[in-house]
Amino acid sequence: MTLYLKNALHIDWKTLNFKEAHIAVSTLKEDSLKLIEQLPPADELAKQDTILDCRGKLVTRAFGCGHHHIYSTLARGMPAPLKTPRNFVEKLEYVWWHIDKNLDLEMIQASALASALFCAKNGVTFVVDHHASPFSVKGSLATIRDAFDAVGISHLLCYEISDRDGETSTLEGLAETDEYLSGGNQGLVGLHASFTVGDNTLGKAVELATKHNSGIHIHVAEDQADQKQCLETHQKRVIERLSASGALKLPKTILGHCIHLDKTEQNLLKDSNAWVVENVESNLNNNVGLANYGLYGDRIMLGTDGMHSDMLRSAKAAFFVGQTTEGIDFPGIYQRFRNVHAYLESNGFKGDSDNNLVVLDYDPPTEITADNFLGHFLFGLDSRHVESVISNGKLIVKEGELQTMDEAEILTFAREMGTKLWEKLKRK
Ligand SMILES: [Zn+2]
Repeated sequence: MTLYLKNALHIDWKTLNFKEAHIAVSTLKEDSLKLIEQLPPADELAKQDTILDCRGKLVTRAFGCGHHHIYSTLARGMPAPLKTPRNFVEKLEYVWWHIDKNLDLEMIQASALASALFCAKNGVTFVVDHHASPFSVKGSLATIRDAFDAVGISHLLCYEISDRDGETSTLEGLAETDEYLSGGNQGLVGLHASFTVGDNTLGKAVELATKHNSGIHIHVAEDQADQKQCLETHQKRVIERLSASGALKLPKTILGHCIHLDKTEQNLLKDSNAWVVENVESNLNNNVGLANYGLYGDRIMLGTDGMHSDMLRSAKAAFFVGQTTEGIDFPGIYQRFRNVHAYLESNGFKGDSDNNLVVLDYDPPTEITADNFLGHFLFGLDSRHVESVISNGKLIVKEGELQTMDEAEILTFAREMGTKLWEKLKRK
């Protein structure tokens, strides 16, 4: 099956070269994208081939999210917490852990469908998710996988294992991960954070990641509390602890945040194979501090931390914050925005080939060229310009409409599940 994007202005996401062309997009990876001079004559088109008129539109590589939490989707507009949090750990206890403990599989399905819908409409065709639902662990990853597949979003999932809810929940998290990875699904071994994971669980998680040729996905030093607990309990800092566990040797390992690292940790990180994901909007919201990621090496990606599903927004936020924290420039932030592709490709993950594209209906008040594209990327291009989206060669959003599922049905289901969740939140 071939999709033809007729009369497009193609922007090569690596070189930023502009070329007017027709684009032939295939569902097959090896034949995924070709720029062609002429469309095939009508009698040579296969029955299932499609032509989309892209005159006046920009076409470039779709986007990816390096760190998401679909479990927070139903939090938007929720009732105030029963107690007012005074710091980061209390925010986890009174808000996020209160939510994730009350999730059931139906709510998880609604959360994943709605997040996948938002990703699709924002041009995000690949999501790395970090999931928690400590009293509804079994089957949670397959539920998210099926929802993402139904919408047409590729994924790299994990279950956020921790010791915070007792041994049964820890064992269920390890079992869910093992079962998911044993089933041939691509995924990671998730851990919440150093301060909620004891040595036994950390060891088992690294063992599991090694067994499945996978990596660890964990929050690191998001708040000083993580470092303080690590020093008191383990007499070392978080990156030193993770390094000693073997987690940082694995090239699939993802470390979220890494806000409070000292010089030794920065050097350990640079010498490791792990990737870091920055999520500055979440850090601002939680008031946990900000990091100079320029000190951590080149393996830095961008995420949303579940705040939203809009990577153009994440890139802008990282740029504005990065000017203060590290004097980041236009190419520097664009590189981080696109590093998710390097992470996925270098680790052999599926679902992020050249046949993932966005069609942008962008009508700027000034000229746009290869030379000034990054200025438009940071100060002009928004998710509202995403008109059509191609995921793995398939048109999943056409002229603003989701093609794979009924958008209104997804949102109605999500609202119903949101109301059910909020009732539970008020009770405990
Ligand atoms: Zn996170």
